[in-house]
Amino acid sequence: MAQLYFYYSSMNAGKSTHLLQSSYNYQERGLATAIYTAKIDDRFAKGKVTSRLGIDADAFLFDDEINLFKDVEHKNQVEKLDCVLIDEAQFLSTEQVKQLTDIVDLLHIPVLAYGIRTDFLGETFSGSAALLAWADKLVELKTICHCGRKANFVIRHDENGKAVQAGKQVEVGGNERYEPLCRAHFKQLVWQ
Ligand SMILES: [Zn+2]
Repeated sequence: MAQLYFYYSSMNAGKSTHLLQSSYNYQERGLATAIYTAKIDDRFAKGKVTSRLGIDADAFLFDDEINLFKDVEHKNQVEKLDCVLIDEAQFLSTEQVKQLTDIVDLLHIPVLAYGIRTDFLGETFSGSAALLAWADKLVELKTICHCGRKANFVIRHDENGKAVQAGKQVEVGGNERYEPLCRAHFKQLVWQ
């Protein structure tokens, strides 16, 4: 039975590595995968998923316009697909998460979506909210706060190292730095 998996974390730590390892596990057995990642800006014509450990893989890009069900259905007709992997899944629209459920339910292809649960203000992303609601399996990839507790949140520092308390959900090409924090430390810095 194909299923929709949502692997979520408070920030990028380890997420892409896990995705690339999962894709490799399929390919090692002679099975075909398709990887998608978000087209967040126009700097890159081609997609790539890159792990901090130094491995990477080519990826198809998704934006707001693409119908992921139709796209996967077409690719699956050209070459039979055994697994679809989505990085930066927090940027999917609610409608696109529905399309992922159709890939699972109608095409019977498992979908592994990887994303960040909340933004730097503690608000959910559209894609993550829908995936938390509709995925068959939820898997938390844990990161740790500097105090040792589990980090559920992420904070954005500006160039002076100060916690950012307002702004756009996605900052492209900035010098901001992200840090995983437990809820208690997040509240001290952002919800004060
Ligand atoms: Zn903490």
